Amino acid sequence: MTESSDEETTAFADLGLRPELLAALSGLGYEEPTPIQREAIPPLLAGRDLLGQAATGTGKTAAFALPVLERVAAGGHRQAPLALVLVPTRELAVQVSEAMYRYGRDVGARVLPIYGGQPIGRQLDALRRGVDVVVATPGRARDHVQRGTLPLDEVQVVVLDEADEMLDMGFAEDIEALLDLTPAERQTVLFSATLPGRIDRIARRHLRDPVRIQIGAEPAAAGRAPLVRQSAYVVARAHKPAALGRILDVEAPDAALVFCRTRIEVDQLTETLNGRGYRAEALHGGMSQEQRDRVMGRLRSGTADLLVATDVAARGLDIDQLTHVVNYDVPSAPESYVHRIGRVGRAGREGVAITLAEPRERRLLGNIERLTKQKIPVETVPTVADLRARQMELTLATLRERLSDDDLDSYRVVVDTLTDEFDLTQVALAAVKLAHEGRSSTVDEEEIPEPFVAKDSRKDSGKKSGGKKDRDKGRDGELGGKERGKRSRSAESGADGGGDTERLWVSVGRNAGVRPKDLVGAIANETRLSGRDIGAITIAESFSIVEVPASAIDDVIADMRRTTIRGTAAKIRRDRVSAPPA
Ligand code: AMP
Repeated sequence: MTESSDEETTAFADLGLRPELLAALSGLGYEEPTPIQREAIPPLLAGRDLLGQAATGTGKTAAFALPVLERVAAGGHRQAPLALVLVPTRELAVQVSEAMYRYGRDVGARVLPIYGGQPIGRQLDALRRGVDVVVATPGRARDHVQRGTLPLDEVQVVVLDEADEMLDMGFAEDIEALLDLTPAERQTVLFSATLPGRIDRIARRHLRDPVRIQIGAEPAAAGRAPLVRQSAYVVARAHKPAALGRILDVEAPDAALVFCRTRIEVDQLTETLNGRGYRAEALHGGMSQEQRDRVMGRLRSGTADLLVATDVAARGLDIDQLTHVVNYDVPSAPESYVHRIGRVGRAGREGVAITLAEPRERRLLGNIERLTKQKIPVETVPTVADLRARQMELTLATLRERLSDDDLDSYRVVVDTLTDEFDLTQVALAAVKLAHEGRSSTVDEEEIPEPFVAKDSRKDSGKKSGGKKDRDKGRDGELGGKERGKRSRSAESGADGGGDTERLWVSVGRNAGVRPKDLVGAIANETRLSGRDIGAITIAESFSIVEVPASAIDDVIADMRRTTIRGTAAKIRRDRVSAPPA
């Protein structure tokens, strides 16, 4: 086990950010900037325009938020906003506002999300009191401008986040109009996962001599992944701890290194894993050498099986007995994936790399595949039955090994005594049971639902799916497969207005063997909706809930009056429980 520090490091402090912001980042457990932050923050602080190609998960939000917050801190608080961030969906508006609020708490940043579907009164009150940053969907921002409630004449920075998505959703005209209403000398920042010609045209018209940054989109020369068995699992955030546990149970690693993005995640996951009966240790960037040595010692001696760490904390670690590397999130830079998985599969031994991706992070997997020129197969999370089968296999293998032990005779007295009373097979079965129970921990009975991914986005993580319809089902469109009748709260409707969904109650569920694709198939066959229009699906024991566009629900109910789903005649009606908005 050795430690070296051959990897270059840049700290947030090197980027020229003020102490209040550095303190916030440190408080959030961010240990170092991601590549996009490293490249984007200095030119943005210098006032340059920027055109960035980066997907979700690269850390792009902080890349534009921190320079905006520097301006807020420097500018003093005024009535009218000094920054306007445009985003495609209300989910993203909320997410970006929350991130900006967290980063900017110590500079007193007043951040307001503005999106359709939210009572306008609250937005008006906040605007009247004065805000520094408005994070808005373009349609709703334009409504406010037309009402005269969102002044744009003091805007110093405009950020277009996920610009390609905004264009796909038909917001081009709103964006153009909003840009034309802001001062010409403003700074303009455009982030987009893809750079089609339409984005280029916006950039040419509205950005001045922009710095261009591309993260993870092109294969870099450097990265060649070592030969390691790689796989990924697409799991909704809420199910990640359970999914990780299940995967670890099936993989049964000798020693695994689990990577998280932040120190706080490291602590939380370590606690969760210990609570679930794993022997996990956290490794921090801030730990003393002595503490690190102690943790490493526990891993080496087998008193710990899992090491949970950030990239920084694990830098330079070289652990001989490591069999598995787990990415609890998709790493924000494809290069760090290569670094991480390079820690296993050394000296001709088999190494395994496992990556958990949230549905929205699938695109990042594509970036990694392009860099490493290797496919990362997406597997389904093992079921309870898979785990039981695997545990039986392991018991079998353990017993087979024991059969060649040369001290078995010392147990003969037990067998002989028992066979006076019982059949030999019965005795063997009881002994196997004992061995099995001693080996395997109890099985968590909960099945882990597979996220529902719309047809188009399933095709390829690097390809775009288009159309406003996509957005109407929410960003993740997660499937709560075993929610035990609990309503899925994941399907927030997408865009500004027009994105309302309603819940259909369907009288068949898991006990009829119903899977999401059966519901999608039945609806797509019988009605005018396509798979893309269908939102979150929750399959409970005896019924299912499917989200469909509100405007279509009556037609869907009428069209599906005589439908059978997996051979069972299904009753379909509006869901009576109206779920609270998430
Ligand atoms: P984004 O690409 O902006 O959606 O960010 C993806 C995730 O990475 C978010 O959960 C952030 O909180 C997290 N994140 C962003 N920057 C960093 C960083 N420098 N270190 C650790 N986590 C980060």
